[in-house]
Amino acid sequence: MRLSKDVFSESAVRKRLAQDTREIFEAIVERVKILDPANSRRWFDDLAIRNFSGGLLEITCPDAQSAGFLQDNCITSFARAAQQITGHLVSIKFSADGKAGKDKLSSTAEADPRLHPDYTFDNFVVGPCNRLAHASCIAVSNSLGTTYNPLFIYGSVGLGKTHLLHAICRETRSNFAKAKIQFLSCEEFVNRFISAIEAGAMAEFKNLYRTVDLLVIDDVQFLREREQSQEEFFHTFNALYDNRRQIVLSADEAPGQIPSLPERLISRFKWGLVARIDAPTYETRVAIVQKKARLRGMKISDEVAESIAGMVKANIRELEGALTTLYALAGATGEEISLDIARKALGDKETTDKNISITDIIKVVTAYYDVRPADLQSKRRSQSITMPRQICMYLARNLTSHSLEEIGGHLGGRDHTTVMHACGKIGELQQTNDKIQSQLAELTKRITK
Ligand code: ADP
Ligand code: MG
Repeated sequence: MRLSKDVFSESAVRKRLAQDTREIFEAIVERVKILDPANSRRWFDDLAIRNFSGGLLEITCPDAQSAGFLQDNCITSFARAAQQITGHLVSIKFSADGKAGKDKLSSTAEADPRLHPDYTFDNFVVGPCNRLAHASCIAVSNSLGTTYNPLFIYGSVGLGKTHLLHAICRETRSNFAKAKIQFLSCEEFVNRFISAIEAGAMAEFKNLYRTVDLLVIDDVQFLREREQSQEEFFHTFNALYDNRRQIVLSADEAPGQIPSLPERLISRFKWGLVARIDAPTYETRVAIVQKKARLRGMKISDEVAESIAGMVKANIRELEGALTTLYALAGATGEEISLDIARKALGDKETTDKNISITDIIKVVTAYYDVRPADLQSKRRSQSITMPRQICMYLARNLTSHSLEEIGGHLGGRDHTTVMHACGKIGELQQTNDKIQSQLAELTKRITK
């Protein structure tokens, strides 16, 4: 009697149910890692169920940044995984752990920019290529507006500029809970400026950007040839500078090398510290591969890390792409990845550094998307043409050593800003969009074959 009563008591049933739910949730997380290796992170193991009822799975995340990351990148893979595991349609909701959120964040922090949870100082590997940039970013986060103002970081695509800027914002927030922080890409700045003009809301615009403690603007090369925005930027800069507010900027070139930027902006950009990031050396690349693998909870040997670092040299985003490919192949089994698998998965990239031409790229891309080369070179701007065109630009930028102008020239005489914009956009999608990521992987494979 006593036994059956115990087994069926309400608390026993509830305990059993809770355990079942937890097991289901663990299975879902494991499935997500298989479905979406590119976006899976080790901290997924810290996620917990808040509630699971009525087809809605509510998931608690360690903080607002990770909730934002999941919301932006992983909602479909979680929904798919949940459906596969439970056999039912499930909607997903991510939210930050309420406790931590309220204790730590002030009300200004809630309006904070969305920061990528991976882009922290801890996750940044320091080497000779980026030592100065890294140290100056840390210095700025510790004392706003006094050490280096402005701080100008520049370097080629995929070398960690955006990563460092996010890290500055995060570190500043933890040092100065009440600081007003604005982080945006230069393109966003320009777009918001234009919308403010159209909406007759210039006063609000000025008030927003001229009163912050830290203004971080990524990719300021986007300002070239945008005279009106340059003007506004100039005034914003002066207002902040005069009030000893911190300004941090990044670009793909040194201030003086950005074409058609007016002298008065160039000289201001040089007032503080200008720090260059170079391509990483072999040792730094190995350390980055190891760090990124750990971040994803992948097991790879030193040998494999060294072999990836030896194969992929151009930029760090590509190193990550290589890791993702590996993870997709071997991650599912949870086994350590052998050198053999790595070689097979990645091919011997060294031999692919040889002459890839833009014409080859156009050929492969047009065949893949079933469009004609003439379409890519035309003025047509429909999505079905624009996307393959931008992908061509991105691949040409990453797989050949042609300049932006030359790439633009092959694609219907487009100017370098258009190519830059395309590379930025596709690079972004490569990180955030599974479909594009796998298409790019496939295209790269075909082109380098
Ligand atoms: P950029 O803005 O210069 O084009 P990103 O900051 O977007 O480059 O960096 C591309 C990828 O490379 C990111 O995933 C970033 O985390 C990674 N990365 C770049 N440099 C480093 C580094 N030194 N340590 C760790 N990861 C890095
Ligand atoms: Mg960037």
